[in-house]
Amino acid sequence: MKNRKVTYRLYPNLKQAERLLEMLALHQRIYNIALEDRIRSYREEKKSLSFADQCKTLTLWRHAYKELADLNAQSLQVTLKRIDLAFQAFFRRVKNGEKPGFPRFKSLQRYSGWGYKSHGDGWRLFPGKQDKHGKLRLSNVGMITIRGKGRTTGEPKTCEILHKSGKWYVSVTIECNPIRTCGTKAIALDWGVETFLTTHDSKEQTSRVDNPRHIKSELKTLKLLQQSVSRKANKQSHNRKKAIKSLAQLHSRIANKRKDFHHQVAAKLVKENGLIAVETLSVQTMTKSGGSRKKGLNREILSTAPSQFHQILKSKAEEAGIIWVEIPTQIVKPSQTCYKCKIQKKKALSERWHSCSCGASCHRDENSARVDLDYALAKVSGQELAEVGSRGGFAMLNHETQAIS
Ligand SMILES: [Zn+2]
Repeated sequence: MKNRKVTYRLYPNLKQAERLLEMLALHQRIYNIALEDRIRSYREEKKSLSFADQCKTLTLWRHAYKELADLNAQSLQVTLKRIDLAFQAFFRRVKNGEKPGFPRFKSLQRYSGWGYKSHGDGWRLFPGKQDKHGKLRLSNVGMITIRGKGRTTGEPKTCEILHKSGKWYVSVTIECNPIRTCGTKAIALDWGVETFLTTHDSKEQTSRVDNPRHIKSELKTLKLLQQSVSRKANKQSHNRKKAIKSLAQLHSRIANKRKDFHHQVAAKLVKENGLIAVETLSVQTMTKSGGSRKKGLNREILSTAPSQFHQILKSKAEEAGIIWVEIPTQIVKPSQTCYKCKIQKKKALSERWHSCSCGASCHRDENSARVDLDYALAKVSGQELAEVGSRGGFAMLNHETQAIS
């Protein structure tokens, strides 16, 4: 099981926003009162209050004050847990001889929000189509419109309501159950004209994936067969029908081999990476690998490559719970942007080498993959990257300095 965090922005109406602020203030007060209680108990009775002690007190408070009784009990416990964690961290620092930093009282302005322990208890998420946008139901607030997109599907477990510079967010922890394992690198792919793919990853490795040799040789046979069909001008002839039949058989054999190849490449990419960035499929990307030089069936087979591979890779990435970033080619312009200095300069398709006045010099496809990777790393939140990293040392570029503005 893996946990993922998905953050949505909340769009409460006026009444809901008012209520959210009231709730924030109550949680902040509980936090400060619980902190004060711990301090007083220690000063007066030399007794350290535990989390369980404070939960008992909380129950009494909830009986005494109606406004507290209206709040979700679990969410109040989460607030008490925060105090507990702050003290645990404090004692750990004292023990290690570090600067202790005693837990502090918090002003409403500095109070970040509150949390819920289990889905369905005080909150429920209603994601929209394909996990995009949707609604959040909070008890005592109602249905709130949310905007955002989950990159992985799974079961919502816990959530935090966050208040940052006047805006409201909900950060939902999603438990995913990936049926495929993934790696810890980030990688970007670029469709080549001569090669199948060029990749660049966060360990600064560039690789080329060639079209498999056996497919190339079969494409030659295919060409011969096509010629033989077109030579047999008599449409009724038995030989022509035979040639057409073997042409069709070869065609489907190549298509199958190509599909196998796509599965293999995709499985390897998913196994080694935790983030995959690909160009959004467009007619331009589709024809890039087909090329206008290639005619007829060859072209048909080659031009289906990006869309089929894209689909296979995406579904494997979903199975592994990988971060999937689609690069809007028209905006990013990977082939026309220098990966190093970010200056854009138009290149003809025949220009295969990228050399820039800033000193950057590499293959055109490598440059594109590098630009795509930087874009993807800048696009994905640090929190998401850290979660990929927690699976075993995500090798990250210092993407802050390389981000595309
Ligand atoms: Zn440059």
